Amino acid sequence: ADDVALDPWGSSAVSDYRKLFEEFGIEKFDDVLEEVPNPHYLMRRGVIFGHRDYRPVAEALREGEDAAVLSGFMPTGDPHIGHKLVFDEIIWHQQQGADAYGLIADLEANSARGMSWDEIDEHARDYLLSLLALGFDPDEGTLYRQSTNRELQDLAFELGADANFSELESIYGFDGETDVSHMQSVVTQMADILYPQLEEPKPTVIPVGPDQDPHVRLARDLAERTRFFKVSKAYASFELEPEERDLVADFHEKLDPEAFDDDQLRCVHVAEAIEETPLEELAVPADTLSSVLTKLEEAGMEPVRPRTRFFDRRATDEAFDALIDAIDGEKRVYENHVDAFELEVGAAEELAREVEVENGGYGFRPPSSIYHRFMTGLTGGKMSSSVPASHISLLDDPEDGYDKVKAATTGGRETAEEQREKGGKADECPVYELYAYLLASDDDEFAKRVYDECVGGERLCGDCKEQAAQLMKEFLEEHQEKRDEVEGLLEDADIELES
Ligand code: SF4
Repeated sequence: ADDVALDPWGSSAVSDYRKLFEEFGIEKFDDVLEEVPNPHYLMRRGVIFGHRDYRPVAEALREGEDAAVLSGFMPTGDPHIGHKLVFDEIIWHQQQGADAYGLIADLEANSARGMSWDEIDEHARDYLLSLLALGFDPDEGTLYRQSTNRELQDLAFELGADANFSELESIYGFDGETDVSHMQSVVTQMADILYPQLEEPKPTVIPVGPDQDPHVRLARDLAERTRFFKVSKAYASFELEPEERDLVADFHEKLDPEAFDDDQLRCVHVAEAIEETPLEELAVPADTLSSVLTKLEEAGMEPVRPRTRFFDRRATDEAFDALIDAIDGEKRVYENHVDAFELEVGAAEELAREVEVENGGYGFRPPSSIYHRFMTGLTGGKMSSSVPASHISLLDDPEDGYDKVKAATTGGRETAEEQREKGGKADECPVYELYAYLLASDDDEFAKRVYDECVGGERLCGDCKEQAAQLMKEFLEEHQEKRDEVEGLLEDADIELES
């Protein structure tokens, strides 16, 4: 199980991606790929392998509606080719029309990794230069660092009021030794994730490695935390025809207020919503819900928690079917209820957001995420910032990049003869990964040819590495030239470079 422990500050090797689907509920990216307009090659090649709730983002991009992308970088060392995946993901979404945000997680680097502010300043600059050199448009997008973003700090403070220690303990394993700054960096990160929606709720995607999933889950939860009442109210303000309203009002008159007894506390949320809403006649009475719950339980169905009742279309349908069966004589009235509640969940949530925004709230949509595979280190094992030979820094001298590729381990066989006979193991080869993740760029045919030639035994590792090393050298030369060219852009960008 250690393999799949998701710890944002621990080891970043996740060797069994299948478990992420099963244990953590991350969905397969393949299932949503067809809905994505012009998918990026990292999506097409399965490097981006998973997602949470990416559909609304894909839809917004397709329809030309508002969407946002945000990811952050902890400036603990040089940006390397693993970080390039995230840069590419942000830039691609920006090119598809999303509002793009790149942030420097300096508070996190300081509190969780103990970096000094000087080190952070230096690395922050390097990350941003590479992001710009790869194509991020600073005029259209937003760059910021956590420590100097006042709005972000205010939002973090507000979100902190909705989270408590037990929760951080269960999500991150925090204990009595965890320092307060580390906890603060968590709420700051929650604020980062929701920041693109500060002005207006919109589908937002956070491209990350799977080790960052705990942050995404907590942010999704915080975004929805107070939504229940809002959804209830939105449902309750759903309009009925006047005569239907009379029928409902008539029915309510017959209700005995004493029916709201302590045993029906399960329905307390509903009761509160009823009390709070001016159109109370349209909400379902608590005792009725209670009898539905009992009925459902008698019928051996899963009891439905009031908190989730209005979010789950299926549960709502079941509840109301049972409700109709349960009560004779008032069928028509209840059918009106059913109609009233049969809004699509999406439409109801949209209404709920409007209500929340009208009342001065944010109406956040739960943020979506996409997950990319980690690159294998060039020396085998995981790619690590602290092991220079395992990765290629975007700042490496191009000749050094060339040498590192030449020295990389491969998925090749013992002898050339065996390789010709059995083919190489491209799936286990860090050099093949370099082609697929970076060197073949947008050229799928080239990537496929390398793969086919390798597993077919036509490609031998010596030549293959020579070609990869040469391409890497060219990539680094070009990237570093671009970095020089965009220096000015960085100076002009609205971000404080020094803490
Ligand atoms: Fe890797 Fe290339 Fe050798 Fe195949 S031929 S195992 S892709 S280095």
